[in-house]
Amino acid sequence: MANIAFIGLGNMGGPMAINLVKADHQVNVFDLSQAAIDEVVAVGGKQSATTAEAVQGADFVISMLPAGKHVESVYLGENGLINHLSKDTLVIDSSTIDSETAQKVAKELASKSIHFVDAPVSGGVGGAKAGSLTFIVGGETADFDNAKPVLEVMGKNIFHAGAHGAGQVAKVCNNMLLAVLMAGTSEALQLGVDNGLDPKVLSEIMLQSSGRNWTLEVYNPCPGVMENVPSSNDYQGGFMVDLMAKDLGLAMDTCVKSQSATPMGSLARSLYAMHATQGNGKKDFSSIFQTFSNKGE
Ligand code: NAD
Repeated sequence: MANIAFIGLGNMGGPMAINLVKADHQVNVFDLSQAAIDEVVAVGGKQSATTAEAVQGADFVISMLPAGKHVESVYLGENGLINHLSKDTLVIDSSTIDSETAQKVAKELASKSIHFVDAPVSGGVGGAKAGSLTFIVGGETADFDNAKPVLEVMGKNIFHAGAHGAGQVAKVCNNMLLAVLMAGTSEALQLGVDNGLDPKVLSEIMLQSSGRNWTLEVYNPCPGVMENVPSSNDYQGGFMVDLMAKDLGLAMDTCVKSQSATPMGSLARSLYAMHATQGNGKKDFSSIFQTFSNKGE
């Protein structure tokens, strides 16, 4: 049994922490929301009054926070954890953030001999609940090996992408591709519908043809084609447009830095940013389908 501090118990962090409790680890939790804390305490997590209290005696600290500024503030800010962590603690940040902030936090912590890995996830809220997330880790090999048994409680696939920040780079590459696939699948489905096709039949055809992709397999964006996906539940739940827009912004920052050409990613970023500003930020990201389907509405 490990002693684990878990900071950030939102849509993702809550179920991840619950899986650690269920695996008989001691989990000390902290969040700004009491309701979020209560859900983990209900299954056996232990509430801490502050982040500093949560990390006392911890073997691992796991954070699952919205963005880079939250991660930097929790670890390096005024009264940040850098002043409270022990050298025996491994810090695992699973938030999706920019690779520069991940590298900065890693470097500052290393200056006090505290080990850090960035370990963003793929798999969404369903994967967090089922303990089937994919973890994409950046950091030293020894730290990756140390983190792996804990990550395996919350995930099925654990990858070592490279040095500090590499986990975040791999994560934004994946999500940029996902956004392109979702937008492309949506417009292809709508093209078929506009020309008299049944979207269920068209989805079946494309699934068995060269257009096959993850969105058609498990996350069809057209309402009524698939059960138990956000498109058949008024685009509620799932992965928010605001978060996809954030990830595409991170992808654009990354491609500017490396001077990479990403015209499809840029277009997807513009589509999602526009969709968010039109009041769709809290909907699931498959609602981009409505951009193509709401003609004349
Ligand atoms: P969320 O907004 O539901 O949860 C974030 C939690 O962090 C909230 O409970 C908030 O109160 C807490 N928080 C914020 N600042 C804090 C602080 N200073 N100290 C303690 N707690 C603090 O977000 P989420 O959907 O759980 O996403 C978390 C991260 O995971 C994000 O970086 C997101 O991009 C990434 N992610 C999300 C999904 C998804 O499907 N939701 C999938 C993959 C990755």
